[in-house]
Amino acid sequence: MWVEVILPVPVHSTFTYFWNESLKPIPGLRVHVSFGRQNCLMGVIQKIQENRPDFDCKPILRVLDDYPRIQIQQINLWNWISDYYLCPIGEVMQSALPAFFKLKESDSGPYTLGDGSVAHWRWYAKKSDSGKISEVFSQLNRAKLQSEALLSYFQICSNQLDMDSEYYPWISQDFLLEYSSVKAVQLNALKEKGFLKKSMRHSIIEAIPEGEKIDLSDSQLDAFSSIKKGFSMGKPVLLKGETGSGKTEIYLKLADDILKSGKHALLLVPEIALTAQLYKRIEKSLGRDLVSVYHSKASESERRDVWQSLLNPETGPRLILAARSGIFLPLNHVGVIVVDEEHETSYKQYEPSPRYHARDVAVWISKKIKCGIVLGSATPSIESFHNANQLKYFKVELKERFGSSEPPKIEMLSLIKYKSMKMMKGPLSLPAAELIERVLGKNQQALVFQNRRGYSPYRTCMSCGWTEPCSECDVAVTFHKESKLLKCHYCGNSRKPSKKCPSCQGSAWKLRGIGTERIEESLDEIFPDANILRIDSDSARKKKSMSHFIEWLETGKVDILVGTQMIGKGIDISGLSIAIILDADNALQMPDFRSHERAFQLFSQVAGRTGRRQNQGHVIIQTVAPEHPVLLAVQKGAYDIMAKSILEDRRLYHYPPFVKMVKIELRHSKEVIVEDAAKFLAEKLVRSFGGGVLGPEKPAVSRIKNFHLQHIWMKFQNGKSLPMMKEKLRKINNSIYFSSDFRSVKIHIDVDPY
Ligand SMILES: [Zn+2]
Ligand SMILES: [Zn+2]
Repeated sequence: MWVEVILPVPVHSTFTYFWNESLKPIPGLRVHVSFGRQNCLMGVIQKIQENRPDFDCKPILRVLDDYPRIQIQQINLWNWISDYYLCPIGEVMQSALPAFFKLKESDSGPYTLGDGSVAHWRWYAKKSDSGKISEVFSQLNRAKLQSEALLSYFQICSNQLDMDSEYYPWISQDFLLEYSSVKAVQLNALKEKGFLKKSMRHSIIEAIPEGEKIDLSDSQLDAFSSIKKGFSMGKPVLLKGETGSGKTEIYLKLADDILKSGKHALLLVPEIALTAQLYKRIEKSLGRDLVSVYHSKASESERRDVWQSLLNPETGPRLILAARSGIFLPLNHVGVIVVDEEHETSYKQYEPSPRYHARDVAVWISKKIKCGIVLGSATPSIESFHNANQLKYFKVELKERFGSSEPPKIEMLSLIKYKSMKMMKGPLSLPAAELIERVLGKNQQALVFQNRRGYSPYRTCMSCGWTEPCSECDVAVTFHKESKLLKCHYCGNSRKPSKKCPSCQGSAWKLRGIGTERIEESLDEIFPDANILRIDSDSARKKKSMSHFIEWLETGKVDILVGTQMIGKGIDISGLSIAIILDADNALQMPDFRSHERAFQLFSQVAGRTGRRQNQGHVIIQTVAPEHPVLLAVQKGAYDIMAKSILEDRRLYHYPPFVKMVKIELRHSKEVIVEDAAKFLAEKLVRSFGGGVLGPEKPAVSRIKNFHLQHIWMKFQNGKSLPMMKEKLRKINNSIYFSSDFRSVKIHIDVDPY
């Protein structure tokens, strides 16, 4: 027999090997094979082939599993991602499998991951044979520790309701060791004497422990039954509900129902650093031991546990709380998927390949495994809004705000006006400063929003105006005061600031632009008595810090919260009554066709964080363009009007969702080579596709990590010919590898590059 194996190599193909094992080959088993000059690579069997191929095949070196650790569903998914996102299936596999799967030849066996079973112990005789117990205890008279071990066993048994069985129950070794001072050595001694039996078994959660009851309001109940209706029609459900309208309770109710039916639930969230709060809430409502967390920062053993428990239905259903990589889990037994804050960009993986969008992948999975899927958001992405209008998605709206408080009052303040009248206090316009003052007086909390981390984005020479760039990228470096370093937000490099200007030898420097660190500093000067907390990806990076921050916020230890867009991704702060958006213009002017959509989502999210329960929130947006249509839409909470006008623009100017976009990025250390390669490629594309090819062009940041970049953009009409177009595109891209001049140019293809 022969098998097709997926290997971690950047080639659009699988590879055939001869199967010389006594076991039957099964798709999903991991194997070691030799490949090219490499003696040993780990691969996964994709398919069995009965017929002899017409070329010679090498044999498999060894089989690593006794049963498949990867489901057919996952292999199908890898293939789909490979086709859709135009990347080699080996790269998809590399991204999908956590490190503990990727065994090297040098890793000594046994190669199996274990099947998740643990040792269990049971009294050897039947219950009816009660005389045996006292007999054995008297025999064990002098073996004190063994008697204790046995005693603990019977004590645990007496708490278990296992009336029907003629034997005492199997008790897990972990539980025995935890319950008493027993050690495994005593259990084994009892086994030697024949008094205890041992068996490797799966821990079974027999009944779902009761959590707090999930009480839904009338409007939540309506939404809940509408969602069920959408499920029964086999459609993905778009759940649109304001921040604070109680979407989370609906997610929990959906999960609770599914867990009770014996299936798993998957809840995807955009920012895992912010899930501590959500985790506690889920644990409280669903009961303990039913929530697992899966993301790239979880430990290997945590991730392995989640994977194993999903493979093994006997371990009982659970809710998996995951970041975007959760889509790669074995999801066959999942009954519902929820994608929270579905509009968030963190669902898209930009680097490395595969450049997939977890929301779109989740929708695909839900169709394949036939489970319900809910995409939740207060401000859905334009694509999802469009899909709902086209009736591809089933739309459910949750209108009520939690505790029926009013939507926040939003006002725009002209920065031009207040600056010219010299009515500024640091970064704050006078009315904004006064508003914060008032709120602090009432012991409430204020949010100051600035979507730029660090202290200052530009360090400029006072005499000649030279701005310090990253040594490896064509972009200015940001000064971080806490670490006293200049950091590049593109490549992550950091270094000490230079003392002398290399252009004029001057040594006087000016810091231009304002980041969150600088905001924190000026607020400290303006409100010396206030407790200020800054949350951005710098301060939240440490593993524990986020849960401390949330505790401080919940216990009212923070007066002013300074934050970036991280705030919008799911922190629930009940005392927050106002928000100041310091500089709205930056987000509105991004050179990206989605900048208006993004800005609307971002500002609405920030506004949605204010005002809960009885208090109406109050938001001040500082801007040079107070009449900007996006800001007016935020002010009116006019999502639908906004979305319709954006869609109309996209239709007129041929942008997604009306066309498919593909971005091709070329990288090389020499600028001439990458430019020539881009021209060569673009010409071929134009010849082959005619219209719809834009560029090549130098991107705004045209050098990153010492690689020069060129971009080519392509637009395809949506429709059936799309797979054919992609195939053509793939072939043309391959031609670069076969041209001697450009072989060393790296090409990144990004399908749906947003
Ligand atoms: Zn200078
Ligand atoms: Zn850099």
